[in-house]
Amino acid sequence: MLTCSIVLFFISSCGIRERSKANSYSPNVIPFNDTLNVFDTFCTISIYGKINESYAKVCINEIKELLYKYDKMFSRTDENSEVYKINKRISDEVYVSKEVANLFKISKDFYKWSGGAFDISGGTLYTLWDVKNRTNLPEKSQIEEALLHIGNFDYDVHEEDNNEESVKITFYGDTKTIYDFGALVKGYACDAIKNLLKEKKGISAALINLGGNVFCYGKMLNREGGNFNVGIYKPFSNGEIAETVSVHDKCVVTSGNYERYFKIDGDNRVYHHIISPYDGYPTNNGIDSVTIISESGLLSDFLSTAVMILGEKKGRELIEKCKKEFGIDIDVIFIYSTGKIILK
Ligand code: ADP
Ligand code: MG
Repeated sequence: MLTCSIVLFFISSCGIRERSKANSYSPNVIPFNDTLNVFDTFCTISIYGKINESYAKVCINEIKELLYKYDKMFSRTDENSEVYKINKRISDEVYVSKEVANLFKISKDFYKWSGGAFDISGGTLYTLWDVKNRTNLPEKSQIEEALLHIGNFDYDVHEEDNNEESVKITFYGDTKTIYDFGALVKGYACDAIKNLLKEKKGISAALINLGGNVFCYGKMLNREGGNFNVGIYKPFSNGEIAETVSVHDKCVVTSGNYERYFKIDGDNRVYHHIISPYDGYPTNNGIDSVTIISESGLLSDFLSTAVMILGEKKGRELIEKCKKEFGIDIDVIFIYSTGKIILK
């Protein structure tokens, strides 16, 4: 499959490599490309269609604006972000954009459905495990303290107060809780890009890679079935591809333990950035990566993280629940540290 592809896309949690034979393309299959850094990762945008360069630039700029907007809106560290202000809990009643309110609302369900594995209120814990800057384990007492403030969904999203610009959320209880949408925002942004692209005439396909969240929009006109090929890295390898999926109009999201992690002397365990709220430690269940393929960016992003934590059996139950709830197809790929790969 790899050899006969005209364009191959290889993904990891944090990057994309692209190979193309641009000379052999007909005009409407040569992509217009751009890159940017958002969500703390390197992102690429490619759009295809019978469009001219100036129109392509307009479209790409609108996509970039959307990405910058969500990066800022959901940032935990930007003092002007809505989430930052909520986490400071200056007031128990806050007015936020509909988008932030929507994610607060659905995250309650995600918490419930995942049996507490997927927890946007776990920011005290996730900040403590700052694996990008850490090389040693947090103290046990620090983990215990962080665990006291998670699992806090004691808030109401007041949809009746819904006006054009903002929605009220009232927070009760623990003011030390930190909300963190890092595991959802990239998928959410892909869905927003999908809505934007649908409005754009002449764009036949687009490939948006937000560091491991690969959104394949539309159909590649020069490919059978219109499919993109997305390669999934073999964890801890030097860029080897473990598996390739052929899709269109899907969001292919991989959560893994092999991009952001540290190790300590005398211990083979990988301390990475997906944290189990059950014990306060990075997951250590033998799974190196979970890839979810669905038409919804938000669901793919939610499930890839949640299933990493839940493991295969409970993870599959959650996937089934989401399939029924949303009436969509969802595929999964597990890659175990033994090298075993399980498809579907
Ligand atoms: P990535 O953002 O690297 O693509 P994920 O989508 O799996 O990977 O999100 C990981 C991020 O989600 C972490 O950096 C942290 O901010 C947050 N997170 C970690 N553990 C959990 C969890 N149990 N539930 C919800 N969010 C989590
Ligand atoms: Mg995720």
